[in-house]
Amino acid sequence: MADLIVLLGPPGAGKGTQAKVLSRELNLAHISSGDLFRDHLSRKTELGVLAQGYMQRGELVPDNVTISMIRERMANTDCAKGAILDGFPRTVPQAEALDLFLADSKMGAVRKAPYIKVEAQVLVERLGGRWSCRAGGHVYHEKFNPPKAAGVCDVDGSALYQREDDKAETVANRIRVYFEQTTPLIEYYRRKGVLAEIDGAMPIEDVTRELLASVR
Ligand code: ADP
Ligand code: ADP
Repeated sequence: MADLIVLLGPPGAGKGTQAKVLSRELNLAHISSGDLFRDHLSRKTELGVLAQGYMQRGELVPDNVTISMIRERMANTDCAKGAILDGFPRTVPQAEALDLFLADSKMGAVRKAPYIKVEAQVLVERLGGRWSCRAGGHVYHEKFNPPKAAGVCDVDGSALYQREDDKAETVANRIRVYFEQTTPLIEYYRRKGVLAEIDGAMPIEDVTRELLASVR
């Protein structure tokens, strides 16, 4: 059986930041749907071209496309032990498809779904100051978590950039989409008895501590 953890929370809650630490501490693969889409986009694959418009508008990429991309990624041998899912599922049909896939592939079921709670006003400030690394998906914040050298990733030395969809107008739409389409997942996982609520407004290290306690 694989160990599967789903990180829930709005855009900017800290899912990517925390997923990196959890995957290292628990020795599980880190699967970020956003990073997978951005990788397809940079390679101009058919999937990347299809996803581009949705991502630029801050809308969700259609479920069927997203689900098949994740199924393919989870079939990889590095997921046999388990994975931290960051950014997927984001709709109830995606969560149902994940459950089916986990059962069919004998991987088991989602063990824990920590929900990193952060209020909307804070999210805008977080995304507005986010700097991301192209190579490994590491994330920084110009005020809250600055890199040692401006514009350079501490971990792999690659250049940092500001995401096109982190502009204020797109952020507002992403937060709206989150409340409409992703919040029902909180109830979905609560009903399954695997939800853990974490206060995401605390400093990064404190959130990490609570997250680790919730999944250990
Ligand atoms: P998500 O993957 O949920 O969109 P990220 O991990 O990319 O979120 O974090 C969004 C931004 O907020 C990044 O710039 C990150 O450095 C910063 N950040 C993450 N967690 C915290 C925190 N607990 N306090 C302050 N800033 C944070
Ligand atoms: P954030 O850091 O704000 O949580 P992501 O990097 O996870 O954002 O996602 C960026 C964009 O990629 C989303 O706005 C959406 O267009 C697309 N995307 C990522 N994950 C999914 C998903 N599970 N379902 C549909 N679209 C997704």
